[in-house]
Amino acid sequence: MAPILELQDVHASYGRIEVLHGVDLAVPRGAVVALLGPNGAGKTTLMKVCSGRLRAASGHVHLGGSHVNDAAPDALARAGLCTIPEGRGIFPNLTVAENLRLSGLAGRASAAEIYETAFTRFPRLAERYDQLAGSMSGGEQQMLAMARALVTDPAVLLVDELSMGLAPLIVRQLYDVLGQIAERGVTVVAVEQFADMALRVADFAAVMTHGRIVAFDEPEVIRRDLAALYLGGAAA
Ligand code: ATP
Repeated sequence: MAPILELQDVHASYGRIEVLHGVDLAVPRGAVVALLGPNGAGKTTLMKVCSGRLRAASGHVHLGGSHVNDAAPDALARAGLCTIPEGRGIFPNLTVAENLRLSGLAGRASAAEIYETAFTRFPRLAERYDQLAGSMSGGEQQMLAMARALVTDPAVLLVDELSMGLAPLIVRQLYDVLGQIAERGVTVVAVEQFADMALRVADFAAVMTHGRIVAFDEPEVIRRDLAALYLGGAAA
């Protein structure tokens, strides 16, 4: 089946410093892909290129078969690509309900439908309907970020460092939910510095070092080779 998201020889820079040096990645429709790699490998930069927040200097980005190199973030969002950024992207001074309603604004869902989608998946958020998002625990805030993404009914969900600042048990639960979301047909790309949890739910894993994808394979293969891949990257 044709990949839903595909990058071919993508280069990207900050000013004059090139950070992505020719990324090739094909994300199969409906798959969960873990994007692993050490600090500074370029994972977040790659997410920025995919979501239209940073323009590729050269190469090709395709979403659902369309060439989207020059598409703005809102156009990509309308095309079904949703990002949960590092730091979660929620509004800390708004309530849970307000955060959810805002994310649903672009679509046609009513407030009731938005709450139904969010609270069915995350009952904990229903109990915290009127709470300011910034006063919730880190795990609850990540649930809210995931719920906000869900109510946009995405085709592709990009998640950057789901585990950031969270206890392992919470991370495990959140990855389980990501797996359930994927079972309903959403394609997921999960950037993760800590490989174990992401590999547990992934169908495929990609490893990035020094601005390139150096491996793409099934999770067991990547799990076995990860240390060597990271070390190989460090020596490059
Ligand atoms: P981490 O796991 O630490 O988040 P990462 O793999 O996501 O790392 P990126 O955040 O994409 O890596 O960073 C790749 C490189 O680009 C790093 O050397 C970083 O310092 C640099 N970089 C990132 N953002 C910027 C920016 N806005 N301006 C200049 N350089 C940047």
